[in-house]
Amino acid sequence: MSGVFTTRFAPSPTGRLHLGHAYSALMAFDAARAEGGKFLLRFEDIDTGRVRDEYYAAIEEDLHWLGITWDEEPIRQSERFDIYAKALEDLRAGDVVYPCFCTRKDIATEIAASASAPHGPDGPLYPGTCRRLDAGERAHRLANEPHAWRIDMTRAAALTGPLYWTDAEAGEVEAQPEIHGDVVLARKDVPTSYHLAVTIDDAAQGITDVIRGSDLIAATHVHRLLQHLLDLPVPRYRHHELIADETGKRLAKRDDARSLAALRDAGWSGEKVAEMLKGDGVGLAAGLQSKRG
Ligand code: GLU
Repeated sequence: MSGVFTTRFAPSPTGRLHLGHAYSALMAFDAARAEGGKFLLRFEDIDTGRVRDEYYAAIEEDLHWLGITWDEEPIRQSERFDIYAKALEDLRAGDVVYPCFCTRKDIATEIAASASAPHGPDGPLYPGTCRRLDAGERAHRLANEPHAWRIDMTRAAALTGPLYWTDAEAGEVEAQPEIHGDVVLARKDVPTSYHLAVTIDDAAQGITDVIRGSDLIAATHVHRLLQHLLDLPVPRYRHHELIADETGKRLAKRDDARSLAALRDAGWSGEKVAEMLKGDGVGLAAGLQSKRG
């Protein structure tokens, strides 16, 4: 990668931020400051059914409370659907995606009926039903039925050959996008997906260093493939460990008690929380919880 060190924090405005987000945002922000680089904010708000208007401002407020500022106007993925649609066009032209008409129920039925159902990082792989449609049926249904777009993973991976990325924790990693099977790149209800939008936007924002939780390592295999197919630059990656609660379970947005807003209401200062997260991030969540009033 060339260019000034640029990293980002990319929350989804579907809830308040919790300690896990704070840890990730602080790590990225501090890395940018240490490198004399840029820290950017991006709202990953394609999931229009779950996004709530009030969370955009609440997230900005929580970040400011922690002492985090960003160097450019935040971008919103919901305003960039045309850009994702154009990339999907390119993938269609390259013949590496196909329309999928299946409902969740169709997929579950097909999987239940098959003798062996291979699993990927996110559960059973798509069984390939719509990949096998003949051209006539595909064209007819395309004109008449709602559809998602899936990548033909075997074909795509064969086209690209071996791909690698550099990970601050894991070193040189060979991408194995095949573990995901034919993932969805554009949903029926939204003309993109997390994988497509994040890959395009990391390039669009000039991100040289993606810093995010280790729960997203599996996704990087797909992102690396898409970078190649869409001719995008490859950032460096750092997948950091995750903050857990006192039982060792990773924090989720629904854990409202661990939200930054709840800590603030309980009298914590953002400065103190940031300082503790940097000192003993991973062991911290339980501590903050038990000290809470
Ligand atoms: N929007 C994702 C999340 O909130 C983060 C994606 C990323 O950092 O690549 O978990």
